[in-house]
Amino acid sequence: MRINIAIDGPSAAGKSTISKRLAEKLSYVHLDTGAMYRCTALKAVQNGIALDDEEAVCDMLKNTEIRMTPAGDVFLDGKDVSDAIRTDEISLAASDVSKLKNVRRDLVLRQQEMAKEKGFIMDGRDIGTVVLKDAEVKIYMTASARARAERRYKQNIEKGIPTSDIDTIEKEIAERDYQDMHRENSPLTKAEDAVEIDTSYMSIEEVTDTIYALAEPFLNQEG
Ligand code: C5P
Repeated sequence: MRINIAIDGPSAAGKSTISKRLAEKLSYVHLDTGAMYRCTALKAVQNGIALDDEEAVCDMLKNTEIRMTPAGDVFLDGKDVSDAIRTDEISLAASDVSKLKNVRRDLVLRQQEMAKEKGFIMDGRDIGTVVLKDAEVKIYMTASARARAERRYKQNIEKGIPTSDIDTIEKEIAERDYQDMHRENSPLTKAEDAVEIDTSYMSIEEVTDTIYALAEPFLNQEG
């Protein structure tokens, strides 16, 4: 049977990379919900909208189209913003707009609508706890702040994205974790029924195989 897989965890724990791999393996669709908060932040910054102005950000969202291709490219109102949303500035700005209750409501509804048909691997912060509470498989993926900073640094270099040094990235990651875990609306927490995986010392293949093994019993079920 087709299922939904929810993958939550702090930034740069490997959620997107693993989700992409799993999606290929299962021929499922990967939805990177963080990209939606990043697009919201980018458009607000570009339009000079204050990141704490809930009404203005929500009004802006009413006329905003966010589209993701199966290859993982992100289009904001028809424009390819795949790299523009990955800067350090937009990472923090995304964490800021994601605190706003009605921004979350708008984006969560879009995510739930998309995943109705099943066959989704969705990664974010509130997927197992809010967006897809009934997902058949729920993962809470973590890694040490240092391991995550090193990965993000390497990723930035590989993609040619302007980057700070590893110490600065680690500080920013810690700041964003704190903000994401302590906000009032849908803070990042492990769902009670999620399986926790610490990826600090695991390869991409090992993590992918672990999650695949958790999904397998459902995949073999009729229905
Ligand atoms: O996953 P990523 O690092 O791209 O997410 C960017 C920011 O968007 C996070 O720091 C978090 O504040 C927010 N986010 C969220 N809920 C999600 C996905 C991302 O609040 N489901």
